Amino acid sequence: MLSALSSEQGQVSVSTEVFEAQTVVIGAGVIGLAIARALAKSGQEVIVLEGAGRFGEGISSRNSEVIHGGIYYPERSLKAELCVEGRQQLYHYCQTHKVDHRKCGKWIVAVNEAQGSRLQDIQMAADRNGVVLSLYEGRRIAPEIPEIRASSALWSPETGIIDSHGLMLSLLGELQDAGGELVLRSPVVAAESDCQRHLLHVGGDNPLILTAQNVINAAGLGAIPLANVWAGLPGDCRPQQWFARGVYFSYSGRCPFKSLIYPIPEPGGLGVHLTLDLAGQARFGPDVEWIDHEDYTVDSNRLATFVRGIRQWWPGLEQARLQPAYAGIRPKLSGPEGGFSDFRIDGPEDHGLPGLVNLFGIESPGLTSCLAIADRVKAMLV
Ligand SMILES: Cc1cc2nc3c(=O)[nH]c(=O)nc-3n(C[C@H](O)[C@H](O)[C@H](O)COP(=O)(O)OP(=O)(O)OC[C@H]3O[C@@H](n4cnc5c(N)ncnc54)[C@H](O)[C@@H]3O)c2cc1C
Repeated sequence: MLSALSSEQGQVSVSTEVFEAQTVVIGAGVIGLAIARALAKSGQEVIVLEGAGRFGEGISSRNSEVIHGGIYYPERSLKAELCVEGRQQLYHYCQTHKVDHRKCGKWIVAVNEAQGSRLQDIQMAADRNGVVLSLYEGRRIAPEIPEIRASSALWSPETGIIDSHGLMLSLLGELQDAGGELVLRSPVVAAESDCQRHLLHVGGDNPLILTAQNVINAAGLGAIPLANVWAGLPGDCRPQQWFARGVYFSYSGRCPFKSLIYPIPEPGGLGVHLTLDLAGQARFGPDVEWIDHEDYTVDSNRLATFVRGIRQWWPGLEQARLQPAYAGIRPKLSGPEGGFSDFRIDGPEDHGLPGLVNLFGIESPGLTSCLAIADRVKAMLV
């Protein structure tokens, strides 16, 4: 699929060989793979360039693996629209492509009256997004979640869990069936664009230059650093990035819950919640810690704060069963005091460069939204 050009054609001053491609997707996380699959199935010749030695080892393998309902996001925001659309598409995809998942539902619990009024706000926000939640109060709660201490609770029947690696494997398989290619150990180190074409400098063991008609920057935490070395991209199309780390603790042994349990959200995240994997194993997280570089350390000193928080709604938690597990980093477009920030999908209408799409700030609910994001990107390239 890659065809070599002479360096004169490539108009570059280095001796590296120049290749051309129709469509290049940068980054083989769940977003890049979903986009690449959609474009390849629509007839484009697609190459995915991944800097690491394997696909899906970035944010896509360091998350809660929850299929979100679409509850918390402001009406008509991209997060609200793409989460609701993406969730419906994802359940259908999982059923038709045999990706392991379970629509287990989730509870959002309030432990006092002040939190109870926050629950009502959450229910109204969900309603505006077309997501139906049921409110449980007083004695109706205990029969549903006997071990949980809550004065009121919201039930979200559409929330579920998914095998995110299985999803990525399936997307990759479809990409390859449609003639697409994944090239590993190929970090894009710089780029140049004008109205005619895009030129990518690819590093790694065998550096090369690629020219392409369409380029999608789906590099997750690497998307903004790459935009910062993208010649021809207007300055206001390079947003600032913040990192918010979230760590998880796993819970060994049997867990009494069959659904997910969430507290009231906290600034920067949804609050340390209980999620289950498909084998029924429980884990708690992620918390929110603002950091200034990529660092996946799980500080076991955070255990005490976890225990204090969880025991507010699950007094029976056994501390000795909690073990440090893993960390993920949210690619944030606003800092600690910045409030809500939406996904940014910058297309030609934003930066004036035909065929180029940059995806920034694809934090949660990115996994849930991946198929809907892919459709948006496809529509920007037509
Ligand atoms: C703690 C946490 C919990 C979350 N929980 C959920 C959840 O429960 N449900 C949900 O819907 N969403 C959740 N999310 C969000 C979801 O995980 C992300 O939106 C999604 O995984 C982002 O995928 P991606 O493909 O954009 O990024 P990534 O998976 O990071 O993929 C980007 C890829 O690009 C590669 N790359 C980077 N730079 C370059 C370069 N210059 N050249 C080539 N390749 C490059 C990287 O190696 C990486 O493989 C969570 C996120 C976090 C951090």
